[in-house]
Amino acid sequence: MKITVLGATGSIGLSTLDVVARHPDRYEVFALTAFSRIDELRALCLIHRPCYAVVAEEASARCLQQDLQQAGLDTRVLVGEGGLCEVAAHPEVDAVMAAIVGAAGLRPTLAAVKADKRVLLANKEALVMSGALFMQALRESDALLLPIDSEHNAIFQCLPPDYGRGLAAVGVRRVLLTASGGPFREMAVDQLRDVSPEQACAHPNWSMGRKISVDSASMMNKGLELIEACWLFDARPEQVEVVIHPQSVIHSMVDYIDGSVLAQLGNPDMRTPIAHALAWPERIHSDVSPLDLLRIGRLDFQAPDEQRFPCLRLARLAAQACGTAPAMLNAANEVAVDAFLSGRIRFTEIASIIDDVLGREASVPAACLEDVLAADAQARVLAGQWLSRYGQ
Ligand code: NAD
Ligand code: MG
Repeated sequence: MKITVLGATGSIGLSTLDVVARHPDRYEVFALTAFSRIDELRALCLIHRPCYAVVAEEASARCLQQDLQQAGLDTRVLVGEGGLCEVAAHPEVDAVMAAIVGAAGLRPTLAAVKADKRVLLANKEALVMSGALFMQALRESDALLLPIDSEHNAIFQCLPPDYGRGLAAVGVRRVLLTASGGPFREMAVDQLRDVSPEQACAHPNWSMGRKISVDSASMMNKGLELIEACWLFDARPEQVEVVIHPQSVIHSMVDYIDGSVLAQLGNPDMRTPIAHALAWPERIHSDVSPLDLLRIGRLDFQAPDEQRFPCLRLARLAAQACGTAPAMLNAANEVAVDAFLSGRIRFTEIASIIDDVLGREASVPAACLEDVLAADAQARVLAGQWLSRYGQ
């Protein structure tokens, strides 16, 4: 199987290459892409010897092309979104790992869907933004969409193969989306305004990129995942219940009408869902250590506190509003998280910015991709206005 890894230098990209390298008999790397960290991309190219590499800028592309040539590789280096879409939809590719962070991954991921690939979806923002259009493109294609997000991968594993008939038709009452609660689960609410980016990125159970780490700390990650679950499994927002589970051992559950609740468990290591989606319906080794329940000892659960985590409430509202609301929520969040990471705003102002943007621009139906991209752009303008008024 030939694989394109979009976002190869990221946390998910590297975990994917780790699993792929353990199975040289099954997988071959076709293309690797990166936005920055060109040195790391070069090192990955030397190991995996892909046919293509994609970077963001002409200058770094020329540099990388020269280096790879000198090293005796015939890897072709492409540039920008066009290059990303080309390696995602290339006729020789079988599977695409969509692991770019944020809205930047939307077009390449859609290109992979439209080209009938096995699409391993980590880039939840792409689906959140364009949900209805994304799922329509999927239905019109022969692509296979497999969730990488650990919760959605767990739900997929707990659903019957014919869940596409509808959750009610297969006897599902609701989906229980587990959340660790992040690093600030127990901090006094009035201290949240003073937390630093380093504190927000220090997740207790998972090691991840900085954007999703902040999203986990604000629980916007769970909000985006709620919307993601609605699209992937054709669920209404009220059918998805968020449950805080600090140990991150149960990755999510499905509650059936006969009272059965199925859960998928495992150590918190993304190589499990990655290996699952790469090999599905088969199983392959991932190097993840076996779950030691006796060492873990107990599994705890609690209800999420929407006062502490207003982003969760905002995401649920956007899920209910549908149309362009999720795209605006996502774009405002991307701008806000960026501003928080660069020290321009407080942690608690992430929610203020999103709330302000959603309040100022009404959600409209998203009939085509241009509507989604326009909503994304408008939300970024509004969030930028908030920043120039109140940000540092
Ligand atoms: P990361 O920041 O570690 O890596 C992001 C990758 O995307 C990098 O390779 C980077 O070069 C590339 N990239 C960034 N901006 C880009 C742009 N504008 N154009 C093209 N490429 C760009 O992020 P990550 O933690 O690996 O997360 C990737 C995606 O997977 C996110 O959507 C995240 O929500 C999702 N996800 C991650 C985890 C996890 O454990 N890390 C778990 C579930 C879902
Ligand atoms: Mg997740």
